[in-house]
Amino acid sequence: MITPEKLNWLKELIRLDKLIPFYKCKEWRQLRLKAMERDNYECKHCKRNGVVTTRKTINKYGKPTKMDVNHIKPVRTHPHLALDLDNLEYLCVDCHNKADGKDKMINKHKPKFVNEERW
Ligand SMILES: [Zn+2]
Repeated sequence: MITPEKLNWLKELIRLDKLIPFYKCKEWRQLRLKAMERDNYECKHCKRNGVVTTRKTINKYGKPTKMDVNHIKPVRTHPHLALDLDNLEYLCVDCHNKADGKDKMINKHKPKFVNEERW
């Protein structure tokens, strides 16, 4: 879980729209390794469809598949879940792009500015 100090730091990064330091921090690097291990180094969404995709899987371009750890609930909208293992899933780049597109559709109907945490 995320500490209050870390959460404040992360919210500031979100406010500044500069999330790179988060993805470089020790806590994230350790947690993403845990997520990869938990998901057996296989894409979770492909697996759901009965397909095993790992970084050794050769894609249609003849290249190894790019894999990444995805935040199921995005960091920007759910910073308190940024370091929650249950909010992570290991995905191939195709599934990651699909997952991101889905998030955008869900967020489309939400108000653009959320002030609830300002005070
Ligand atoms: Zn996949």
